[in-house]
Amino acid sequence: MADSKYETSCVERFLRYVTFDTQSDENSTSYPSTPKQLELLRHLVGELKEVGLKDMDLDEHGYVFATIPATTKKKNVPVVGFIAHVDTSPEMPGAGVKPIVHRKYQGQDLTLPDDPTAVLRFKDNPALKEQIGNDIITASGKTLLGADNKAGVAEIVGAAEYLVKHPEVPHGAIRVAFTPDEEVGAGTKYFDVAKFGAKYAYTMDGETLGEIEMETFSADSMTLGFQGFNTHPGYAKGKMINAIKIAADFISRLPKDRLSPETTDAYEGYVHPYVVNASVEKTSVKLLIRDFKTPGLKEKQDFLEKLARETVRAYPGATVECKVEESYRNMKEVLDKYPEVVENAREAIRRAGLEVRMHPIRGGTDGSKLCFMGLPTPNIFAGEHNFHSRLEWVSVQDMHKAVEVIVRLAQVWEERG
Ligand SMILES: [Zn+2]
Repeated sequence: MADSKYETSCVERFLRYVTFDTQSDENSTSYPSTPKQLELLRHLVGELKEVGLKDMDLDEHGYVFATIPATTKKKNVPVVGFIAHVDTSPEMPGAGVKPIVHRKYQGQDLTLPDDPTAVLRFKDNPALKEQIGNDIITASGKTLLGADNKAGVAEIVGAAEYLVKHPEVPHGAIRVAFTPDEEVGAGTKYFDVAKFGAKYAYTMDGETLGEIEMETFSADSMTLGFQGFNTHPGYAKGKMINAIKIAADFISRLPKDRLSPETTDAYEGYVHPYVVNASVEKTSVKLLIRDFKTPGLKEKQDFLEKLARETVRAYPGATVECKVEESYRNMKEVLDKYPEVVENAREAIRRAGLEVRMHPIRGGTDGSKLCFMGLPTPNIFAGEHNFHSRLEWVSVQDMHKAVEVIVRLAQVWEERG
């Protein structure tokens, strides 16, 4: 059960935030990618002001920064930040969200009213087992909910409200940031780490109660350009070299029982052809390369390059060109240098009466980028489930627990500062 002490207005705020359409757009060239995100960001400046935060700032890119002033008398408590993104996924409609609170959940399937095919089934969602008796929030069937990451936004505002109302709770200065365009991979593009001024930070954008995430993939992409030779197909005998067939041959030589997204999980990496631009003269194959250990990327690149060269050898006159681009790196490489960042979060989660859960993220986060921009930033649960789906949900009780974890984390940093 949630400690009622931490029941701030965060859920009320959340139900308000989800009614703002903040869908981002990966094809946009402006920043933020959609101006409608600014409406919520501007609204948040107002709410933070009401709550009593200081140094409110909405910059030209849409980033909202603010400060919860310190209450501690200690001089050396580091400034800690909490970050959440306001945009929702381009994969699913985000306009006209109608949140529904299903009180005292009893393990039944929840059919969403605006589309009878949208059913949140108990047996397909193992995480619902832990929610019996809780209040579950869903959308109405035609849109996502936007718990990713408005639950995190609301929890941060809720925790700020609590801390401002309880000046007797000692903590250092806390910085708050709300950002646009995370879902299109640009959430940190203009994030000014120096101006933010926190030494360490946490994104509140994780899934299950008690979770803290400090490991992501390391990621590169590779482009293989297969060069053939095109000529009129009626007179091609002995002359044409079809790059499409060479690329197809290469792809068919990739391992079928390992090293792919379809055959790996947990700590296993993969290589993944995901785009082919094909013509007889030249065909390029783009691949994603993923591994939790950065040297593992190099092994996979070498393997792919060798396989490509072997393939081409069977087609005299053909060549292949190999290009690798860095995407992002496992944030653990940075976080291991500052063990107190994760340790303090674990302590705060334990003090909130929760079991600490840690899983690697088979992807990247804004936190992984921030880590390499000089701001060590693991990810803490916000209670979000079924990201980017019409069946997205979050529970009221988990949200209150997340508020409690933020408050306790601020205290842990003060105690140990
Ligand atoms: Zn998110």
